[in-house]
Amino acid sequence: MSQTYTEQVFGTREIVPLKKLEDGLYLEALSNGPTLAFKDMAMQLLGALFEYELGRRRQTLNILGATSGDTGSAAEYAMRGKKGVNVFMLSPYGRMSPFQQAQMFSLQDANIHNIAIEGVFDDCQDIVKAVSNDLEFKRRWKIGTVNSINWARLLAQVVYYFAGYFQATKTNDERVSFSVPSGNFGNICAGHVARMMGLPIQRLVLATNENNVLDEFFRTGTYRVRGGAETYETSSPSMDISKASNFERFVFDLLGRDAARTKALFADEIAKKGSFTLTPAEFARVAEYGFVSGSSTHAHRPATIRDTAQRCGTVIDTHTADGVKVAREYRDAGVPMIVLETALPAKFSATIVEALGREPGRPAALQGIEQLPKRFKVMPVDVQAVKDFIAQNA
Ligand SMILES: *Cc1c(COP(=O)(O)O)cnc(C)c1O
Repeated sequence: MSQTYTEQVFGTREIVPLKKLEDGLYLEALSNGPTLAFKDMAMQLLGALFEYELGRRRQTLNILGATSGDTGSAAEYAMRGKKGVNVFMLSPYGRMSPFQQAQMFSLQDANIHNIAIEGVFDDCQDIVKAVSNDLEFKRRWKIGTVNSINWARLLAQVVYYFAGYFQATKTNDERVSFSVPSGNFGNICAGHVARMMGLPIQRLVLATNENNVLDEFFRTGTYRVRGGAETYETSSPSMDISKASNFERFVFDLLGRDAARTKALFADEIAKKGSFTLTPAEFARVAEYGFVSGSSTHAHRPATIRDTAQRCGTVIDTHTADGVKVAREYRDAGVPMIVLETALPAKFSATIVEALGREPGRPAALQGIEQLPKRFKVMPVDVQAVKDFIAQNA
């Protein structure tokens, strides 16, 4: 822990400093790691844990993943140069922002392999699944993943809820609320765990964008999964998710840890009709757990960014803007509301330009990264080609 969470890597001695936006409304800075998104908070620890444990066991691990942006770059920056670990990261060729591409493809470390697939993100995901389902190949080449259901990632995220609470309160009688821009339900699931551990959280505010499957659930008790064609491309793209992979974990708790009932909902009901609805008694627990939700659209994002810049003097990114917008709908007098800052504006400059008429600032270390030499391999949508590449480079 003490080697991972350093001022050198995260920019401040506090690691996750709280910034005041206005009275009672705060931003918790989680995005000052190497890739400017909160995923560094957990992934940096994972990198250190892997290197330590693999060294102890004298083993190696080949991490295989698919990314449309933030997760892949966070994983690569966490694993670069680590002994015993290789990363094979698939991304849709030409579909990430120039900044995201530059961030990943400019890495020259021998253990980092960028594979640009001539397809869309789902094609990348399907290849990863196909390779992982080949158990013999998986065992032979020691394939692992670092996706968002990884429990170590969740654990690392629990810690910053405590850090936010300690910074926002002075006495043991106070409570706090958190607003969390959400996609795969990983970040806010850590908040739920923190609350179960006893952290006095008043509300966990779940914010979605146009992909509002979770907002619908928290308003109605009905969870209706969307198909890939129903996933909208938005200006907060890291939240463009129609099937949240950590959600089952939360529902298990909500159902009193009844595994049979959880399975009946997720396996049977969803397979049969693509949705499930909680009973009124089950749904009542959502409120007991402090969960509320809201969503926003592109129309809100530039307005929220402009308003926050003008009134609070802080430029926020598009995902954080979704969090701020929904947080404002759930303020309670006397309870600090902490919005988790999930990325820096430099990562999503187009909407910042739309909102403010100027480019967002960029940390000095990332000036001009688009001009750096790139290292990546272009491949067709072909499982065997990816397997061959892994076998040659593992
Ligand atoms: C990953 C991500 C999210 C969504 O977080 P989940 O843990 O998937 O809910 C939100 N904002 C940004 C910038 C992200 O990278």
